[in-house]
Amino acid sequence: MAVSQFAVIGLGRFGSSVARQIAGLGHEVLGVDKNVQVVDDMNQYLTHTVVADTTDEEALRSIGIRNIDCVVVAIGDDIQASILTSIILKDLGVKKVVAKALSPLHGKVLKRIGVDRVIYPERDMGVRVANQLVSPNLLDYIELSKDYTIAEISVTREIAGHSLMQLDTRARYGCTIVAINKPDDVVIAPTAEDILEEDDVMVVIGTNEQIDRFERGIT
Ligand code: ADP
Repeated sequence: MAVSQFAVIGLGRFGSSVARQIAGLGHEVLGVDKNVQVVDDMNQYLTHTVVADTTDEEALRSIGIRNIDCVVVAIGDDIQASILTSIILKDLGVKKVVAKALSPLHGKVLKRIGVDRVIYPERDMGVRVANQLVSPNLLDYIELSKDYTIAEISVTREIAGHSLMQLDTRARYGCTIVAINKPDDVVIAPTAEDILEEDDVMVVIGTNEQIDRFERGIT
């Protein structure tokens, strides 16, 4: 994987977590915040850090922000600063700008000014946690579209020891098991003879409704 260059503007709880994770994945991360203390605290984790008020176009230009592949605007409560920073980034020609929105209206404005991806961390995390609480076997999921999801579902005691043929997921629930995560191996595109064991995690693709029925059906 090629090393990409990222910048994260606003190193609060969300921004610092994004920045540290990207750095931990081996990419170069420039952290920017107007607060000296915040920048000093993050210095040890990131490739570079800069103290700057990013609503100042000149400041952003002098950092060389336009050469960065992806810039995350993680400014928290100051909606005006978030919008101004995002406009300047797009004007300077940054290819990919990802910005955190506090409200649907804030998100709408960010989209209008050309932000490539708007994220709503609190709202999305709330939905994710709620789904996982309601369905304890649902470990994680990715929404492929409005209707389709890939979900990680743990093998319950009820189905442990069964083969995929016995489970007959596609005929009974409509969804498909595309992989089985074993404790020390991954079985990609499992066959009808593969046996599910406790501690395995199934990777299942299907509509939200199919996956929901499957999840209920195996408990
Ligand atoms: P979170 O909810 O993720 O903790 P915060 O609002 O606490 O978000 O943090 C946002 C960060 O963004 C703060 O560290 C703040 O100093 C920084 N910030 C706010 N406005 C600007 C700006 N104009 N330029 C640079 N950094 C900014």
